[in-house]
Amino acid sequence: MGAQIVFMAALGLILGSFISVVAHRVPLGQSIVAPRSRCPSCGTQIAAYDNVPVFSYLALRGRCRRCSTRVPLTYPLLELGLAVAFVGALLAFEDDGAKIALAAAFAATLATITLTDLEHRIIPNKVLIVSAVVGTAIVVARLPDEIGERAIAAGAALLALLVVKLVQPSGMGLGDVKLAGVMGLYLGSAVAPALLIGFASGALFGLVLIARHGSAARKTKVPFGVFLAIGGIVALFAGDAIVDWYVDSFTPGPSVHPASTFSVHGICLDSRLVAGSHARLGAGPQAPPEGARWLPGG
Ligand SMILES: [Zn+2]
Repeated sequence: MGAQIVFMAALGLILGSFISVVAHRVPLGQSIVAPRSRCPSCGTQIAAYDNVPVFSYLALRGRCRRCSTRVPLTYPLLELGLAVAFVGALLAFEDDGAKIALAAAFAATLATITLTDLEHRIIPNKVLIVSAVVGTAIVVARLPDEIGERAIAAGAALLALLVVKLVQPSGMGLGDVKLAGVMGLYLGSAVAPALLIGFASGALFGLVLIARHGSAARKTKVPFGVFLAIGGIVALFAGDAIVDWYVDSFTPGPSVHPASTFSVHGICLDSRLVAGSHARLGAGPQAPPEGARWLPGG
């Protein structure tokens, strides 16, 4: 397991480094394979030894070796974040290669659009198309039972955000609508909490902006894709648990659940509920315990 963790962490760092190139160049219509990266300030080609994910940033203290221009902290943070997500995927879906691959592809997608949305305020179609093709290929090849659920989730998420976009055109871009569809493909029913968390965190950020900058903040263009990405990464690891908890807690049905439905991924969500359902299971017409006597007059 230790070797696998190191492998996934290294893969996350390397892919994160590649993604920062993709996110910078794709919106500008540049090639992602050539030429080698250059410092945007002095134009010096960045040597391979200065391009090692995270480590080079630390060694150079976040500056260009030649001209000392600051390298945005976003890059090492994104590389580190992707490494953490990859290791998380390995730990969460241990024995399921298809689920690990799907989680890794999803995390890479979210990392890419986070950067493009922050840097250029767009979510490129190219990124969404590549992601949708990769996700569909993994699902069709390895998780054929889930094609239906994931297709419905993708369609529903796309439609939900399209409706929001039509009602409030200034709130988000079409890129966000299409991203929601891709999230449905990767998350299945867990796309519902992902969108809710996305809207909630986006609204919270908007309120903070208005509190700090007053009504001028209303004109600030908020990169909504970043908040969808936050919802997506939370739902990737906790989405199924949230959906199960919601279904168990709020859907009308038989009042007695088997205790196991409250235990999601081995975590007991609410021990009182479990205790309660045990008590109800044990209730019903029962003989009084041996030795108990009914006292006359109560
Ligand atoms: Zn430079």
